[in-house]
Amino acid sequence: MDDKTLYAKLLGLTSPWGVEKVELRLSEGEVHIWVALPPKQHWVCPICLEHAPIHDHRERVWRHLDTFQYRTLLHARVPRLKCPRHGVRQLRVPWAEDTSRFTDLLEALAIDWMKQAPIAAVAERLRLSWDEAAGIQARAVRRGLARCTLEPPVYVGVDETSFQRRHEYVSVVTDLERNRVLYVADDRKQESLDSFWKSQSPEHLASIEVVAMDMWEPYIRSTHEHVPDAGSKIVFDKFHVAQHLNEAVDKVRRQENRELLAEGQDWLKGTKYAWLRNPDHFSRRGWQEFGPLRQSVLKTARAWALKEAAMCLWDLRYLGVVEKNFRAWYGWAIRSRLGPMKRVARMIKSHWENIKTYFKHRITNAGAEAINAKIQAVKYMSCGFRNRERFRNAIYFHCGGLDLYPAAVRISQ
Ligand SMILES: [Zn+2]
Repeated sequence: MDDKTLYAKLLGLTSPWGVEKVELRLSEGEVHIWVALPPKQHWVCPICLEHAPIHDHRERVWRHLDTFQYRTLLHARVPRLKCPRHGVRQLRVPWAEDTSRFTDLLEALAIDWMKQAPIAAVAERLRLSWDEAAGIQARAVRRGLARCTLEPPVYVGVDETSFQRRHEYVSVVTDLERNRVLYVADDRKQESLDSFWKSQSPEHLASIEVVAMDMWEPYIRSTHEHVPDAGSKIVFDKFHVAQHLNEAVDKVRRQENRELLAEGQDWLKGTKYAWLRNPDHFSRRGWQEFGPLRQSVLKTARAWALKEAAMCLWDLRYLGVVEKNFRAWYGWAIRSRLGPMKRVARMIKSHWENIKTYFKHRITNAGAEAINAKIQAVKYMSCGFRNRERFRNAIYFHCGGLDLYPAAVRISQ
């Protein structure tokens, strides 16, 4: 078998394409392959499939999978056809998408690796620039979104997440049943969420049963404006209420820690995460060590007990009992003389109608937490997103449940 036949087979080329020339540039560590079409073919427009004569040619080069350790580049003169109806159109080649400088197989490999490793690492291993690797990711996401024919979501989650500098945000809309991201928008303004609702048909909006979110006015307003009967569908979920309670406990701790340090006592030093941890997540030993602190007379211990008591509301079964317990809890919080706890209690009370909706819908927050953990992993894995666009692509790439592969690779898989 000569080298041309060998590469034609390796590339999986089918008639009329064939390998014209193979050049080994071993000192440069490269293999160059020229692929060509036989002359005098009957050409058809790639859109309407009507006869179209050749207009001119474009010299193109694609990076392909390496041949052993050698970078492998594919060259072809690709005809541009002149269709009477569609004008000048480039002939489609079977090994790459129209705009890519990489073959489908190289893109598929990069996609597989990017699922496991940061873009920078994949770029280095594949000897691509960071921008080239990010470009492959962006194209994969565009393909995935274009193919997306999702079932309308019934349980929708809305959340914000910060990136890079801590005060920049994107809004993330998720399908809580299928655990995947549906939409990522800039900022956390009303318009951010408006744009998602506007992308949904009136039937889809009407079929939504739950919108789980934080007590964040712009999201609340947006949902009321777009989702029919939003008042009975918005659920301020346990996950977000817990976040607010944790922040309040942490404020109490920080303030008390300062006061104690001023008196030369370091009781609270190094205890931050113990106060924020879910009691179910303590080791037996950790819980024992935490005992003297949580049972102490510290203000932080009182704030912590308030938080834990509030979290117990979600374990109750009957709404009447929930209401009764909430009123008792609220009274306790308001009398606690702990400023941050009083503020969070008022916040919960003023949003109580839509916290209660949980007991009607009984959605779990497992979905929201899973997605959130995944987004945190994306952030961690890709520190150094230079812009929001790339952060958004990475969220869709890792959490969108999209079909990312080039069409040709997808068919052969
Ligand atoms: Zn045409």
